[in-house]
Amino acid sequence: MEYISTRGNYDQVSSAEAIQLGMVPSGGLFVPQEVPQLKEEEIYQFQSDSYQTIAKKVLAKFLSDYNAQELEEIVNQAYNGDNFATEEIAPLVNLEEEQYILELWHGPTAAFKDMALQLMPYLLQSAIDKVELEEDVVILVATSGDTGKAALEGFKDLDGIDIIVFYPQDGVSKIQEYQMITTEGDNTAVVAVEGNFDDCQSTVKEVFGDQDFKELLEQSGYRFSSANSINWGRLVPQIIYYFAAYAYLLKDNKIEPGEEINISVPTGNFGNILAGYYAHSMGLPVNKFVCASNDNKVLTDFLATGVYDINREFKKTISPSMDILISSNLERFLFEMTDHDAEKINEWYQQLQEEGKFEIDQRTKEKIKSLFTGAYATEAETKETIKEVYENNDYLLDPHTAVGVESYRKALEELSEEEVTVIDSTANPYKFSRAVLEALTGEKREDKDDFAVLEELQDLTGQEAHRALQGLDERKIRHQRNCTSSDIKDEIKDILELNQ
Ligand SMILES: *Cc1c(COP(=O)(O)O)cnc(C)c1O
Repeated sequence: MEYISTRGNYDQVSSAEAIQLGMVPSGGLFVPQEVPQLKEEEIYQFQSDSYQTIAKKVLAKFLSDYNAQELEEIVNQAYNGDNFATEEIAPLVNLEEEQYILELWHGPTAAFKDMALQLMPYLLQSAIDKVELEEDVVILVATSGDTGKAALEGFKDLDGIDIIVFYPQDGVSKIQEYQMITTEGDNTAVVAVEGNFDDCQSTVKEVFGDQDFKELLEQSGYRFSSANSINWGRLVPQIIYYFAAYAYLLKDNKIEPGEEINISVPTGNFGNILAGYYAHSMGLPVNKFVCASNDNKVLTDFLATGVYDINREFKKTISPSMDILISSNLERFLFEMTDHDAEKINEWYQQLQEEGKFEIDQRTKEKIKSLFTGAYATEAETKETIKEVYENNDYLLDPHTAVGVESYRKALEELSEEEVTVIDSTANPYKFSRAVLEALTGEKREDKDDFAVLEELQDLTGQEAHRALQGLDERKIRHQRNCTSSDIKDEIKDILELNQ
C-alpha cells in the first residue's frame, strides 16, 4: 500500500514513510493510493473476533510494510487490559430503541484521543526503524486540553522519542492541567505558556518551520515530529472501532448482515468522521454519516451549501474540542470525493488561504450529500440534551457526545428512526464535570474548583468518574515548567540540554 499527497506534489511513499513524515513536506496530506477492501464475509467474521484481532486485520490492510508479528506486538501494547478498563475496548451501549452510543473513552486519559494515541506512538517507533532515521525524534505538541495528556500517555517511556507538551496557562481546566503535570515517564516534558491557546499554538508552529533551529537540533542528534491528527498514523487506528461497533451489533442480532447503519460523529478536525468514511469505503455498510457540530458550525453550513467559509466569529463553547474553524482532515475527504483531483484541492485550499473560503462544484456536492448530512447543537440545546438524556435514560453524556445526540435527532428529518444509529461518545462525562453539572442543575458553580465540582457530580449521579480523573489533586506534580510564548525555543533547548 502506497500513500500519495492530496496536493499531487510528492512522490508516493510507504506507510512507514507517511507516518514518519507526518504531513507532506511541501504541503498536503498523505492518503492511501487506493482504499483496501473487506468482503462481506470478512466483516461478518469480525463478530467472532476480539477487538485486537479486528485491529490487526484492519491495520494489515493499510500498513503493508509492517509485518504480522510487528502489528501483533503493536496492537497488544496499545489495546490491553492495563490501558483500557473494558474487554471490548470500545463498548457499544444501547441508549434507546435503535440508538447506540459507542464509548471511545475507556483508555488511560478518559478521552477518545486515546484510541489513536495509544497505538500511533508504536507505529511511529517502528517507522523510525524502517526508514533508518539516525536522530532521536522530538514530538512537539501544542494542546488546548485533551490531546496533550493523551499524547503524553501514548509516548511516555518510548525509546528514541521525547515528547514536549505546551499548554496555555489560562486555557485549560484544572483537571486537564493536573492530568498533564502529574504525568510520569523520563522522556516527557510539560510546559505552561503564558497567554491563550492561539499564541501557544502559533509559536509552536513557527518553531516547526524554523530552519536554523532545525539545523541546530539535527547537529545535536534530534529531529522534530508531530503527533497531531493530520498524521496518517493517528487516523488509521480510528477505522478499527467502526468495524468493531458493527460486529457488536451483528453479534447481538440488532442488525442483519449487510444492513446499513447511520453514524453520528461529534466533529472538530474531521479526523474521527473521516476514519468512519474510510471504514465505509472498505465495505462497512453505512446509510448516512451525521457530521455533528456545535455553534462553530462551519461544517454544517458547508454540507448544506457547498461553501466552506471561515469568515465568522470564533465561539467558545462547552464542547471545546470541537471549537475549530479549519478542519484539517476535510482536505483528505475532498480529495477522495473528487476522485483524487489534486488540482481542485490546490485551487480550493489556495482560495481558503487567500479569502478564507471556497466553494466546491455541484457534482462533488451531490456526491457528498448522498452520504453525509450536517447538523449542529446550540449551547442551550447541548445542555438540555445532557439533562434530558440523564433523566430519561439514566445515561450521562459529556457535552461533545450530547452534540452528537442532538445533531442526530435534528438529522432525523433525513433519516428514519427505524435505522440503527451509532453515536460516537468522545469523552467521559467527568472530563467536563463543570458543564455537565451545570446542565443537570441549571446552576453555576463558580465558587467551587474543578475537583469539588467532580465530587459533586459523582454524589449527584452515583456514577463513578473515570479512574484517570479520580484523586488527581493528590497525585505528585512532576512538571513545573513555564515560559512566555517568545521563550518556547529556549525552553526546548533547555529540556533537550542543547548547547547554544
Ligand atoms: C478531538 C475531539 C473531538 C473531535 O474529533 P475530530 O477527530 O477532531 O473531529 C470531539 N470530541 C472530543 C472530546 C475530542 O477530544
